[in-house]
Amino acid sequence: MKASVNPNYSPAYVACHVSRSLFCAIFLMLAIMISPVAGFVFSAADDPENHAPALERHQFTSPHMGTLFRIVLYASSDSLASAAADSAFRRIEELNDIMSDYIPDSELNHLAATAGSGNFVPVSGPLFEVLQTSQMVSAQTGGAFDITSGPFVRLWREMRRDEEPQLPGKKALREASQSVGYKHLKLDESRQKAMLEKPGMKLDLGGIAKGYAADEIRQVLLHFGIESVLIDAGGDMVTGSAPPGRDGWNIAVPAHDEHDEPDPFLLTLTHAAVSTSGDLYQFVEIDGKRYSHIIDPKTGIGITEQRTVTVIGESAMLADAYSTALSVLPIPDGLALIDRKTGYSSYFEVIDGETITPYETEEFTELRENQNRSDR
Ligand code: AMP
Ligand code: MG
Repeated sequence: MKASVNPNYSPAYVACHVSRSLFCAIFLMLAIMISPVAGFVFSAADDPENHAPALERHQFTSPHMGTLFRIVLYASSDSLASAAADSAFRRIEELNDIMSDYIPDSELNHLAATAGSGNFVPVSGPLFEVLQTSQMVSAQTGGAFDITSGPFVRLWREMRRDEEPQLPGKKALREASQSVGYKHLKLDESRQKAMLEKPGMKLDLGGIAKGYAADEIRQVLLHFGIESVLIDAGGDMVTGSAPPGRDGWNIAVPAHDEHDEPDPFLLTLTHAAVSTSGDLYQFVEIDGKRYSHIIDPKTGIGITEQRTVTVIGESAMLADAYSTALSVLPIPDGLALIDRKTGYSSYFEVIDGETITPYETEEFTELRENQNRSDR
């Protein structure tokens, strides 16, 4: 049933595996061996009549937002590539200063400090955009995605710090739940202001901010005229145009074969975002049960059904939010939500002990099958 898969690909991404130097060596050998037809294999970039500088592959990594950001890009010079990457990483730091709930002085925490005051407060453009999108996804998912889950997320983090973790008590959960609920986050669109209605409300953008950051990096790189890019924000990825001479970026979607062996789908994508959520590393085990870092806002505790959810679409911010939401939503609701959304698709697996059950939206089936055909 699976197509274009290679078990050697990492679940993160696989991009242009052949290094430039190896490529050059092979190319030179070929040119010498088959010189009568060598012109046939020249690409436009190698044509002496073509004065456009050849695009070189560059890769940059930098830790931000609690994860490792990686940028792969094709640029005409080292200096352009470095300047663009520096600028992109600086932008991520700016966004982190706005959206982090760990930085006491972040804009997000300043907003939370006004909770219960009854005042609408001005919010920066990036934060307002993330709040608006979050509220839209909350409404679409009946609150399965909810950035006001901050008080629950804090209880989960406290629990994780304990040597012998225990689930939060009923009293703690009841108290936290007084300050949770996306309907208590009010937005004033015309004045770009926000109000947290209930005292003690805290926002957590962990399920959406990295996707937003990936989209932003893409915009920054575009300003430098760099279009052929892949950005990986630790599970939230976005691709631009294809690398030179290729059809697209090879992205591995985590999956298993019928023997439950890791067997990712390898998709070749351009201008697409891919986001994966799951509790592979972030969970707390109590009495043999895994509690994910993704919280069901209805109960206040981490979900116990183990899922790995990938969402593909145009916007990394939306793909990020949907992949978190689909980790919580009942399966038919999640599938129906993505099926309704043109240009978005999802593949996910539910892991129950020894059994792994796959699910996919209609558009994902098409994507996978089309990929098959072009690979043949
Ligand atoms: P992700 O890795 O994108 O799925 O995001 C997981 C993170 O989102 C968690 O570590 C929390 O910070 C936050 N989060 C947890 N549960 C929810 C939820 N139900 N809705 C929105 N954000 C959540
Ligand atoms: Mg997410």
